[in-house]
Amino acid sequence: MTDLPRTMRASVLRGVGDIAVEERPVPEPGPREVLVRVHAVGTCGSDTHYYEHGRIGDFVVREPLVLGHEASGVVVARGSHATRHAPGQRVSLEPGVPCSTCEQCRRGRYNLCPDVRFFATPPVDGAFCEYVALDEDFAHPVPDSLSMEAAALVEPLSVGLWACRRGHVAPGARVLVTGAGPVGLMAVQCARAFGASEVVVTDVRPHRLALAAEVGATCALDVRETPLANSGVEPDVLLECSGVGPVAADGIRRVRRAGRVVLVGMGGAEIPLPLAHVQNREIELTGTFRYANTWPTAIGLAASGRVALDRLVSHRFGLDDVAAALTLAARDETAVKAVVLPQE
Ligand SMILES: [Zn+2]
Ligand SMILES: [Zn+2]
Repeated sequence: MTDLPRTMRASVLRGVGDIAVEERPVPEPGPREVLVRVHAVGTCGSDTHYYEHGRIGDFVVREPLVLGHEASGVVVARGSHATRHAPGQRVSLEPGVPCSTCEQCRRGRYNLCPDVRFFATPPVDGAFCEYVALDEDFAHPVPDSLSMEAAALVEPLSVGLWACRRGHVAPGARVLVTGAGPVGLMAVQCARAFGASEVVVTDVRPHRLALAAEVGATCALDVRETPLANSGVEPDVLLECSGVGPVAADGIRRVRRAGRVVLVGMGGAEIPLPLAHVQNREIELTGTFRYANTWPTAIGLAASGRVALDRLVSHRFGLDDVAAALTLAARDETAVKAVVLPQE
C-alpha cells in the first residue's frame, strides 16, 4: 500500500440535513478484504431518507455516517489472505456482508442474516468516499464492456432481479409493475429478461413512463388517464415498486387467481390490503428484503445488453455535491438516477 494516500475525502452525514466532505483515513483492508478505489456510487431513496430524517425505522444515525451503497470501483490493494482479485480488477460491490454462519446464511437466504453489515446502514459506513474496504467475495468482477456507472447500478438491478425471483416470473408470464422509479425500471427490464411476454408498468409521471416503454415495458399506463380498474390488465405477477398503499391495493385487485404479489416499494409501515381478494383467489403475497446471490446474474444481464443501466443515469455529481444529489428528485422531475463520482 506504499503508493496509496493515507487519507481520503469522504462525504459524511453529521446530522439531519448536514452533510459535508471530511478528511478520513484510507481504510486498511482486513485479511480477506480488498481495498477498492470508488469510481461511481448511485444515490438511493434510502440515502435521501437518512439525510432528511436521520433514521429509517429502527436504524438511527447516532454517529457521523458515510452514505451510499450502490458502488463500483477498482481493486487497489488486498489483505494478507485475499487472493481472488488482482489489483486493477474492476468490480461491482455487493454492499451487505453477512455473518455466513447463522441459520439464514446457511440456507442461502443471507439477505435475512440478522448480523449483516450493510453499507450506509448505521453504524456501517457506505461508499460516498474515495476508498472502501470490503470482503473479497462481495467485490464482483465486471467485464471492461460495462461502465463504472453501470457496475454501480448492479445494486438496484439486483433489487429488480430479486423481485422477479420472488415473484417466480417465468417465460410467458404477464407482469404488472406499479411504479416506474429506478427500481420499477429495473423490475421491468428483469421481467422481460426472464421471458415475461407482457410487462405493464404504471405511474403518473410521463417522463418515467416514456423511459419504461423505452427499456422494454410492453405497455406504460398513466393511471391518472386510465385507472388500473378500467385497464383490463390481469397479471400473473404484481411487482409493487411504488410503496404507495392505494397503488399497491389497486394492483393487488387486478392479480389473477393463484397469482403472486411481491412488495418491493417501501412506503408506510402499514397499508390497507384487499384481503378478501387475496383469500378468494389464493394469491401468494411476499415481501422482499434486499437480495441474495444476484450479482453474477445481474452482471451477466447487464454485460449481455439484456438490461440497460447507463440509460437510467440522469445526473452526475462530485463528492462535494452529495447533498444536491440526494435532494435532486424533489427538485427535478426528469431525475431518474443520480450518480456520485468520487474521483472527479
Ligand atoms: Zn439502494
Ligand atoms: Zn448470518
